[in-house]
Amino acid sequence: MLADLHTHTTASDGLLSPQELVIRAKEAGVDMLAITDHDTVSGVTAVAEAIPEGLQLIPGVELSANWRNLCIHVLGLNIDLQNQTLLNGLQKQQAVRRERAVKIAERMERAGFKGVLDGARKLAGDEYIGRPHFARYLVSSGQIKDEKTAFKKYLGQGKPGDVRHGWPAVEDAIAWVIAAGGSAVIAHPSKYKLTNLRLEELCREFREFGGAGMEVVSGFQEPALTRKLARMAERHGLLVSTGSDFHQPGLGWADLGRASPLPASCSPVWEHW
Ligand code: AMP
Ligand code: MN
Ligand code: MN
Ligand code: MN
Repeated sequence: MLADLHTHTTASDGLLSPQELVIRAKEAGVDMLAITDHDTVSGVTAVAEAIPEGLQLIPGVELSANWRNLCIHVLGLNIDLQNQTLLNGLQKQQAVRRERAVKIAERMERAGFKGVLDGARKLAGDEYIGRPHFARYLVSSGQIKDEKTAFKKYLGQGKPGDVRHGWPAVEDAIAWVIAAGGSAVIAHPSKYKLTNLRLEELCREFREFGGAGMEVVSGFQEPALTRKLARMAERHGLLVSTGSDFHQPGLGWADLGRASPLPASCSPVWEHW
């Protein structure tokens, strides 16, 4: 069973439409696909009735949340797309994103860039505006040479454009997912650059708040990291998940269904649905 439970579409910062994404997933041999756009379910909702035969679609979302002053990402998997608590939460996230975009633009203008807010807004959809749109605008307008440099110098963790204003507490994000009947999963735990001790604390608190699992595999990763995360999940009573975090073909991301393998001994979150 090939599962890919973390992917993005044009509804957030992916470059494929929801329809293009499900076709590509089917062609890649994926059996179970979750669409997990940042802070919106409009992509997965749009495609839910038009899924290629043999592909199981899991409705999902990736929520930005605050844990000890750090922005972490919480996947909501197997959610009810109509749930009002979740939809209210997503509306708040989208408002936070609009306000945050103004702040990011102010900081980028102060750093000497021009036309930043309008430029990023033109590339963004109605519901999600994020740092990738700023990066893409700065590159397409010739102000920065590539997106990697944009993140490295201006938009990445701890840089001027990394505005952390307004995200909900992680327990609130988990509560929205649970209200929608879904499983809350810590996304890409190795991306936060936490020490092992702090990551253990995140696991413990996440579980206490009702979280269900951890993404033990995210894209391509070293087998030693996978083993470490699998052991950590087990110690904390967290189920495991896996995903490519696919945003676009090529360029550094694992393609659909091509994340590193999960250890056979793991207890996958989807076996409990
Ligand atoms: P935001 O949702 O505005 O906080 O932006 C976060 C998104 O930016 C992530 O989901 C990634 O898609 C992208 N991103 C974060 N860091 C990098 C990076 N170093 N290089 C390229 N894209 C990145
Ligand atoms: Mn993204
Ligand atoms: Mn993420
Ligand atoms: Mn993601």
